[in-house]
Amino acid sequence: MNTLLQNEPAIRLTVFLGVLTTMAMLELAAPRRRLEIPRIVRWSNNLGLVVIDTILVRLFFPVAAVGMAIIAAQNGWGLFNMVSLPAGLVVLVSILLLDLAIYVQHVVFHFVPFLWRLHLVHHTDQDFDVTTGLRFHPLEILVSMAIKLAFVVLLGVPAVAVLVFEIALNATAMFNHANIRIPARVDQALRFFIVTPDMHRVHHSVRPVETNSNFGFNLSWWDHLLGTYRAQPEDGHDKMGIGLAQFRSQRDQGLDRMLLQPLLGGGSTRAKGLMCAGDADIAILPRLRKRFQPVQATDWITVEELSKLMETDNAPVIIDVREPDEFGGPMGAIPGSRNVPLGVLLDQLPEPEKDVSIVLVCRTDKRSAKGASLLKAVGFSGISILKGGMRQWCNR
Ligand SMILES: [Zn+2]
Repeated sequence: MNTLLQNEPAIRLTVFLGVLTTMAMLELAAPRRRLEIPRIVRWSNNLGLVVIDTILVRLFFPVAAVGMAIIAAQNGWGLFNMVSLPAGLVVLVSILLLDLAIYVQHVVFHFVPFLWRLHLVHHTDQDFDVTTGLRFHPLEILVSMAIKLAFVVLLGVPAVAVLVFEIALNATAMFNHANIRIPARVDQALRFFIVTPDMHRVHHSVRPVETNSNFGFNLSWWDHLLGTYRAQPEDGHDKMGIGLAQFRSQRDQGLDRMLLQPLLGGGSTRAKGLMCAGDADIAILPRLRKRFQPVQATDWITVEELSKLMETDNAPVIIDVREPDEFGGPMGAIPGSRNVPLGVLLDQLPEPEKDVSIVLVCRTDKRSAKGASLLKAVGFSGISILKGGMRQWCNR
């Protein structure tokens, strides 16, 4: 155990380079998908980010998690340092709890707007390969480190458990982001225990409802147990879009852009992110209210009807009345839609055009209904409202 701790830097570096090289070679030998962005662009920038992250962690944290675990043990801090249990059991339980904590932390980073701004940099990668697993904004790394240190102290996690977990997480993150083809049967068997690349790729889908699933990094159990598991992407692994709807150019893969994306990205809120996955209870209130305040003489259009109409020559003008940060959030936007927030709707609209139908969209239905009355008041006709709004669109 002590030799493990003494050789910590060498072990970490060996595992990191070993897994990185192995995955990179497997990606060349048996790739799962064709990459869209040249490898040199993404690799240089993603790995550049790793270098910045490593330097900043060293600068900001004089003591890393293993060091903190040793200090906690010496001072008797934390639960496991106060009770006497078999050492092996404590190590095992600690590793399981650390993995659960990482899962919960990941869910929270998707839920909380400020944290999502940091975490979205991991999701703006338009391809999915071994370097995606290393791509995190420096601020996310620093926040995660602080959370991990607090967790280690509170729980009194043994140093060896921290080390084993950190090395395992580093290795599995590279494995489950790797662009490698694993036979379906092997993938299925592995998924009973660990997160496979096919399982985690679903989490990198451009579809918000898929982005907000499969949060696990090591063990696949937490997603199964806590109801966030999604087996396959709706569009299939070959055709599915990877990344976020608002960052779609190769330029977005630049290191400078990645560092700025938390400011550019638009905050997610629960409403824009996870709420997409299922918030029937919250939706009841607006639905009841609408029943008592019907929007008169305005047509409703369902998601199915709109999708069909968009493929015809009579495609409507789609006006999304959400705020710009919602428009750019992980809930995404309908392709071709114009973002004109409700507050500036009347200022920014052209003169009413004949024979052009307008579809208003917001998160649910409420603001669209207001927008429809505003537009009608100034002479527009042919206005419909997307039933269920973006929430419905995301679940289509
Ligand atoms: Zn994520």
